[in-house]
Amino acid sequence: MEAGIAMPKNSCEEAIEGLKRLLSEKESLEDVATEKIKKLIIELQRTDPSCDPVVQRIIKGFLHFKTHKFDKYPEYYHELAQGQHPKFLVFACSDSRVSPSNILDFQPGEAFMARNIANLVPAFNQLRYSGVGAIIEYAVAELKVENILVIGHSRCGGIKQLMSLPDVGPHQNDFIDDWVKIGLPAKAKVMEEYGNLPFEEQCKHCEKEAVDMSLTNLLSYPYVRDGVANGTLALRGGYYDFVEGKFLLWEADFGLAVPISIK
Ligand SMILES: [Zn+2]
Repeated sequence: MEAGIAMPKNSCEEAIEGLKRLLSEKESLEDVATEKIKKLIIELQRTDPSCDPVVQRIIKGFLHFKTHKFDKYPEYYHELAQGQHPKFLVFACSDSRVSPSNILDFQPGEAFMARNIANLVPAFNQLRYSGVGAIIEYAVAELKVENILVIGHSRCGGIKQLMSLPDVGPHQNDFIDDWVKIGLPAKAKVMEEYGNLPFEEQCKHCEKEAVDMSLTNLLSYPYVRDGVANGTLALRGGYYDFVEGKFLLWEADFGLAVPISIK
């Protein structure tokens, strides 16, 4: 289905709306009739994909982007189509609440993105995590990004999982435990410094500590190390607190700079 077309209400939609109205208005409908109407709605959605609320959501989202961005700034998008020159490589968590495009208003072309559980950057290792390595190599060696930003966030499920891992014993899941173990050095540091704090506080510290650990790990990639040494690449840490609506930003000089707090 091409989403270049405006969406007039089609007969299928109208039929579904009519059936839903019937369901809400006729409280006296017998159970059998109610069930039949519900089944009919599902059947209608199945036979006509444009009536499927998921399909509708995707079309609506793309049309919104096309109207308010793509068609509104044709020169910008024409230039982008010729090639991308992003200034940022951003690492963020896969958490649905922390998209950098939303919280930092990155526009298409501005930021090369890597999102994974707990926004972790493993140390250089050609035998594992090649997906992450390829992103870093392409962004730094090919696209020549000038900044790498690693963003942690509040109430991170991945960090909670890392902090909950038992010291010994088999993994409880196929991939998650093994992945979050990248953050074990951060966990060890938090346990050493804040071992006496409640679990939630420890997680909060680890959410930031893991960002610093990832910044350190970035230096193990030769192109990153060269860029930092030459002054063509800057590494920064960020922390988005979605409970308080705050963003903390700091330079990766490994603990010496004062962070900027944006409220
Ligand atoms: Zn997270």
